[in-house]
Amino acid sequence: MEEIKKCECPECVKRAHEAARHDEMGLAILIMLMPAMTLTLLSNVGLF
Ligand SMILES: [Zn+2]
Repeated sequence: MEEIKKCECPECVKRAHEAARHDEMGLAILIMLMPAMTLTLLSNVGLF
């Protein structure tokens, strides 16, 4: 099996960092939106 080589040039390092930050931001937004979404859903169902 061939090992996956990680490129360490500035371009790829920067890209990897941005991808990781993008993932973190998406997750944070999802977690932030979760309570609001739950409230909206529950109010639609009529529990509140
Ligand atoms: Zn590279």
